[in-house]
Amino acid sequence: MTGTFAFDESDATQGNLVGEIHSHPGGNTVPSVADWARVDAWSGWTGRNFRSYVIARDTSDPNSDFAIRVYDTTSDRDIDANGPEVNPEAAPCSS
Ligand SMILES: [Zn+2]
Repeated sequence: MTGTFAFDESDATQGNLVGEIHSHPGGNTVPSVADWARVDAWSGWTGRNFRSYVIARDTSDPNSDFAIRVYDTTSDRDIDANGPEVNPEAAPCSS
């Protein structure tokens, strides 16, 4: 949850790019303006609904859990509109 990195887009193709995941160490649970720009750009390039997964937690509570929330081109872009939490019960993806 610290530091920065450059997105490695070297193996991304229009056929395999479906989404991205990254953290917000500051605790912001919604995409930034730059995040939305990538959602729009990658959706346009792939012709699919690109997804952005944002990992964050309540930084005012040191014991708070991390949550992964998902956003795409159909999401509400209001800065207070949290996207749905992905796998909130940490259940397996397959049964
Ligand atoms: Zn972000």
